[in-house]
Amino acid sequence: MAKKVKKETPLMKQYNAIKAKYPDALLLFRVGDFYETFGEDAVRASKILDIILTKRGAGSATETELAGFPHHSLNTYLPKLVKAGERVAICDQLEDPKQTKTIVKRGVTELVTPGVALNDDILHSKTNNFLAAVYFGINTIGVSFLDVSTGEFFSAQGHSEYVDKLLQNFRPSEVLVAKPSRKIYNENFGNDFHAFYLEDWVFQDDYANETLLKQFNTKSLKGFGIDDLYEGIVASGAILHYLGETQHHKLQHITSIQRLSKGEHVWMDRFTIKNLELYQSTNQNAVTLVDVIDKTISPMGGRLLKRWLALPLIDKDQINQRLDVVDYVKNDTVLIDKFQQQLKQIGDIERLISKVATVKISPREVIQLKNALEAIVPIKALAIQTNNKALQHLGTQMDVCETLRERIKATLNEDAPVNILKGNTIASDFSAELKELRDLSASGKDYLDKMLERESERTGITSLKIASNNVFGYYIEVRHTHKDKVPEDWIRKQTLVSAERYITEELKDYEAKILGAEERILAIEQQLFTELVIWISEFIRPVQKNSALIAQLDCLVGFAQLAKEHNYTRPTLSDGFELDIKNGRHPVIEKQLPHGEPFIANDVYLDRDEQQIIMITGPNMSGKSAILRQTALIVLLAQMGSFIPAEKATIGMVDKIFTRVGASDNISMGESTFMVEMNETASILNNISERSLVLLDEIGRGTSTYDGISIAWAISEYLHEHPSRAKTLFATHYHELNEMSETFERIKNFNVSVKELKDTVLFLRKLVAGGSEHSFGIHVAKMAGMPQQVIHRANKILKQLEKSHSSEELTNKVKTLDNDLQLSFFNLDDPLLEQIKDEIVTLDIDTLTPVEALMKLNEIKRMLLKKKRA
Ligand code: ADP
Ligand code: MG
Repeated sequence: MAKKVKKETPLMKQYNAIKAKYPDALLLFRVGDFYETFGEDAVRASKILDIILTKRGAGSATETELAGFPHHSLNTYLPKLVKAGERVAICDQLEDPKQTKTIVKRGVTELVTPGVALNDDILHSKTNNFLAAVYFGINTIGVSFLDVSTGEFFSAQGHSEYVDKLLQNFRPSEVLVAKPSRKIYNENFGNDFHAFYLEDWVFQDDYANETLLKQFNTKSLKGFGIDDLYEGIVASGAILHYLGETQHHKLQHITSIQRLSKGEHVWMDRFTIKNLELYQSTNQNAVTLVDVIDKTISPMGGRLLKRWLALPLIDKDQINQRLDVVDYVKNDTVLIDKFQQQLKQIGDIERLISKVATVKISPREVIQLKNALEAIVPIKALAIQTNNKALQHLGTQMDVCETLRERIKATLNEDAPVNILKGNTIASDFSAELKELRDLSASGKDYLDKMLERESERTGITSLKIASNNVFGYYIEVRHTHKDKVPEDWIRKQTLVSAERYITEELKDYEAKILGAEERILAIEQQLFTELVIWISEFIRPVQKNSALIAQLDCLVGFAQLAKEHNYTRPTLSDGFELDIKNGRHPVIEKQLPHGEPFIANDVYLDRDEQQIIMITGPNMSGKSAILRQTALIVLLAQMGSFIPAEKATIGMVDKIFTRVGASDNISMGESTFMVEMNETASILNNISERSLVLLDEIGRGTSTYDGISIAWAISEYLHEHPSRAKTLFATHYHELNEMSETFERIKNFNVSVKELKDTVLFLRKLVAGGSEHSFGIHVAKMAGMPQQVIHRANKILKQLEKSHSSEELTNKVKTLDNDLQLSFFNLDDPLLEQIKDEIVTLDIDTLTPVEALMKLNEIKRMLLKKKRA
């Protein structure tokens, strides 16, 4: 049997050539009125979009899967594909099919990826959509973020932990990494974010510099303060390169780049951001801090609030400026109301002006832009009239863009459509030609009626009719009975059974005008609209500036609203080190409690001289974690410039917040999880400073009791002895740790009080001085409904254990452990001891953390024990 010859149609040949250029994208191939997908793409598209999968050329050698949808449904289907994590290449027809005899020219006009999206259906209004790039330099890692929908662009560099923190804060939808760095990227940052790997050559400093200078049209990057960010610049350059690669060339709205500096904001690492549930919770339906504190009205305000939360300030004056505004606005109910009324009118001017740059703005959106700028007029006036310096400053900087508004008003109809093809976009008064054409087309029917009347009268034919068809356009129809009355200047075109059709000179003229008018109106509207959009692009910078100012005002008015609604107070910021919170509350829990259950406020006091470390004990569910977290959240809110959920507070500026939570009991613990916990804790110990706030929640829980206590002990001791004397809250259910306060002068014991009733525990939730006497595990067992005998037995065992392993014994154990080992080192000839000696000699003490040291010690102990058993 002869082999079937595989013969591609010209269309499939073209498809295959284009697809080859975008192998990792799902290709939407425009054929007539449809976007088609083929092969593997079709299988995936049909699944994601729930559209029918068929076969093209069924039975033939070129048989392939096929799935498609009408081109006008692109806005419905595209977001679904992108949200499903697809990179989508949109391939359009580049010429009018009517104009060509051969196959229509096609090409990819846009590559939509999760990080490069301009479509409103993909974007969330109150969340930025960042594209990131990470570049691994020799010693430093560069990172950059761009939201192409708003034009916001950032660059930074630092060590792995810093870049990790930024990634966690900015939560990019896509991260660009050089192909050879794939492994190191995963090792450092895991797979939290959708990564895309680019060719290595893209990450080059000459190329990056050149790309950035071209984008900003400047001679150097000094003006942006990033000229010394070598690795950061490479990352930023890679981002711009990628935009080009994805066919995004209209980037006028990316007008500047901002440096993110490590020293300017409160440091929080990934564990802290997660643990405090700032934006996200492991529990899907849980309420996060941002949910509670976001009272902003505009999308820009919502996005900026998230940035403020990610980057709380450490400059007291800057914070006080924000607090001053909140204070001022909060006390003027009428002013809040007026601001809010206007903010509601503004919408998303930041994304609107970006659409001007990308020429994707619709006529209706241009009207929105004008209305937004109009709403800024009273806002500016209100702000300037106040006697608050910071507000006045915000107001003065706002640009009401009068020429811009006037021109839009003059050019467009107020009710301009979304789609320009619907017509009635341009105001008639704006163009004389347009007006005439519109009049003509509107008066068409009228004109024909008049003509008919006139001709009837002239000829005496009573049953004249005017109509049109595709063959010869407009005609006059005369029934045969009146045939002889037809005047000579009419031209006969067609004879029917009962009538004849004629055309006249006048009719032809009229027709040319009418038909031409519709087309011409559209052409003029499109041309004038495009001219307008290009003209508006001159205003990108002032509008962006307005948008930034409005975002700030919106956040501050939002803070005032929040303070009013939830009864927050103004914190006092100090250059000292004390943290003094009176009747503090947890901003999220207090909003979540069942109706009627009051939130119990608590005082927390920490400083570097007397009360540096607080050991908080208390049974499960008593409220230990809540106190830890609310302390961090109060500090965070204060340094964002917000009022706080407390009666009052004095806050010595904090530069780093660390929180660690021991692995929870219900996860079955392997050694590796414990190691992870220890590594995470170790990273705190390497980074603490005088102004750090450290929160340790049940650290050491993930191992056996005595290991756990030892580790908790060692960490607390280290924090106490460390010259930074960082303020620390340590929640633990190991009451043994209460012993520490006797030896270490700045460690103080507190407990979350409970009242023990006959067979239950009543939670009072009040933090009071003093330790706990005994473990509460048994109470919990009781509450969980354990049989009486078990509880009795457990109590007995506990008493015995407490006798034999008194804490004193434990203390001594910990203290003498290293002495013992040290002594035996100097008289060894045993090979195992030799090996241990080597281990110790090669240890790099300078980089070793106490916890690692402890782990090492444990390892050595095991070696010795093994030997003993052997
Ligand atoms: P622990 O860490 O001691 O096990 P949590 O801090 O997780 O306890 O608190 C347990 C629950 O108790 C919280 O989910 C919250 O509903 C409630 N709670 C905690 N603190 C308070 C408080 N101060 N006032 C009212 N309810 C509280
Ligand atoms: Mg807890």
